[in-house]
Amino acid sequence: MRKLYYKTLTNAISKFFGNPQFLILYLTNDCWMKCRHCFYNEKFRAQNNITKDELTYDEIDKLAASIKKILYISFAGGEPFIRDDLEEIIKLFTVRKKVFRYQIPTSGYKTDLILDKTERILKDNRTIPFRVHVSLDGNESVQKKIRGLNDSFRKAIETIKELNKLKKKFDHFDVGVITTVCSYNQDIIEELSSIVEEYHDDGEWCINLLRGDPRNPEAGEIQLEHYIKANEIIDKRIKARRYKGYSGHLSSGWLSAKNAARRKIICKIISGKFKGGGCTAGSLGGIIYPDGSVYPCELLKNSFGNLKDYNFNISGLWNSADAKKLRNWIQDSECICTHECTLSTNFLIQPRTWPVLLSERLKLFVNT
Ligand code: SF4
Ligand code: SF4
Repeated sequence: MRKLYYKTLTNAISKFFGNPQFLILYLTNDCWMKCRHCFYNEKFRAQNNITKDELTYDEIDKLAASIKKILYISFAGGEPFIRDDLEEIIKLFTVRKKVFRYQIPTSGYKTDLILDKTERILKDNRTIPFRVHVSLDGNESVQKKIRGLNDSFRKAIETIKELNKLKKKFDHFDVGVITTVCSYNQDIIEELSSIVEEYHDDGEWCINLLRGDPRNPEAGEIQLEHYIKANEIIDKRIKARRYKGYSGHLSSGWLSAKNAARRKIICKIISGKFKGGGCTAGSLGGIIYPDGSVYPCELLKNSFGNLKDYNFNISGLWNSADAKKLRNWIQDSECICTHECTLSTNFLIQPRTWPVLLSERLKLFVNT
C-alpha cells in the first residue's frame, strides 16, 4: 500500500510539473581543486559516461525555456564560478521568473572572482533569494590535506568573510558554510565548529556526510558516530542561542528546521532505525550533468536520458517511458541513502518525517 502511494504520487508529480522542482544543474566538470573526498571525480564521470561536451549557453537557454516553474536550482560543478557565462546562464532562469530560489556551491578558492560574479548576479536579480555555499572541511592542515592546495583554508575563510559583508548589502542574499564529514576531518568536528562560529556566526552551517566513491577511497573510512556528534554540536549551539541559520527569505526558519530534521533522519538511517521508501529522486529532485545527461540522483548509475536527444526540452525526457520505469523502481526497491538534497525534498511527501520537522521548527523558533 505504501509503495503504491509513493509510486502514484511521484508519477503524478512528474507528470504535473514536467520537470524536477529541485534541480542540481552541473555547469562544468572543471575545478580548481582535486579534493580527496570528491565523488564527482574522473572515475565517477567515466562510469556514468559523462563527457567533456558541456552544454552551451544556447543549449541551456532551450532547457530554461522548456521549464515551466521550478522551486530551486543549485548551479553546481566542478567549480561553477569557472564558467565565464555563469551570470548570463543564471539570468536565463531568473529574468524569466522560472525559479523561486537558487544557490551556487563553491570551494571559495578565488575570492575576488567569486565576489565580483556574486555581486553581479545579485544586481541582476534583486528579489529572488540567492545563496552561495562555501565548502570548509578542515582547519588549515586538514583543509590542505583534503583539497591539496596550501592556501585553500585561508582563501575559503577570506571568501566567507567577504560574502558575509556582501550579505549586509542585499536582503535577498544568504551565505552558507558546508562541511562534508569524511575520514580526514571526523576527529576535528568540535574545532571546525569553533572555526565556523568565529568566521560565520550568523548563518547556516550545513553538515553533509560524504557520499559516493571518493577520489581517494581512504576519505570514506568514516566512523559514523562522528556524524552523530556533529549533529549534537549544532544542537547544542541552537540550544545556547548561538545559531542563526538561513536568512534572506520568508521560509528561512523552515529551511533551517529542514536541515536540522534532516540531520536527525540521517542519524536514524546510519543507526538502521529508518527504512527506505518515498524517495523523491527522479520526481521532485533531479540532476543534470554538464553534458546534458539527466539522472534521478547522484548515486544511481541509471540515467533518464540526455537532453541532447530531446532538443533540450526537459519535459519530454522527464516523462519518458525510461524515466517512469526508473521512478517506479526507486519506489519498488525502497531505495535508501543519506543524500542530503533528496532527503530535503522527501519531507514534502513523507508524512512520517513531519513530526521531526515540526519539532525542529519549534526548537529554532524558541532559540533563535
Ligand atoms: S569537492 Fe568540489 S572543489 Fe573539490 S574537486 Fe570536487 S568539485 Fe572540486
Ligand atoms: S534513496 Fe538515494 S540512491 Fe536511492 S534513489 Fe533516492 S537519492 Fe538515489
